[in-house]
Amino acid sequence: MSKMTPKCETSTPILEQGYLGRLDRKTGSGTQNPDDTEPTLTIGDAVRLLARALHLRCTRCGRGRLFSHGFQMYDRCSFCGWTFEREEGYWTGAMGINLVVTELLVACGVVVPAAMQAPLLPLLTIGIGAAILLPILFYRHAKAFWMALDFMIHPVTLL
Ligand SMILES: [Zn+2]
Repeated sequence: MSKMTPKCETSTPILEQGYLGRLDRKTGSGTQNPDDTEPTLTIGDAVRLLARALHLRCTRCGRGRLFSHGFQMYDRCSFCGWTFEREEGYWTGAMGINLVVTELLVACGVVVPAAMQAPLLPLLTIGIGAAILLPILFYRHAKAFWMALDFMIHPVTLL
């Protein structure tokens, strides 16, 4: 039995046909998707997923907004009903994406000028400022891109 437990165990048609049905197949238990056809991911789908993430829209349908205001995220898509947080700890991947992007940008912004003998004080100022601000600025998109990446790893029929 997997340690991953679905956050929402209600049996709605969307959940039966999507993510949770696939999780059940992995463990070999539970209900299976009635049509049991694994959606395939095309390059066009991947581009569409990334575009939806860039615009902070629902990964599944591309119409519902992910955030109401600021950093407040909706629980479900207002258009298709897709539950954004798939399971407890789901956003750990988003934090990882946020960390990697921040570290790469800070490294590029500090290491390259340091290699060119730039003065230390501006480098520290830029590096520390970027290390604090970038995770905040990229927070919402990190979640959106994590959802897109999750859809690429676990394809779901897109609307
Ligand atoms: Zn949606």
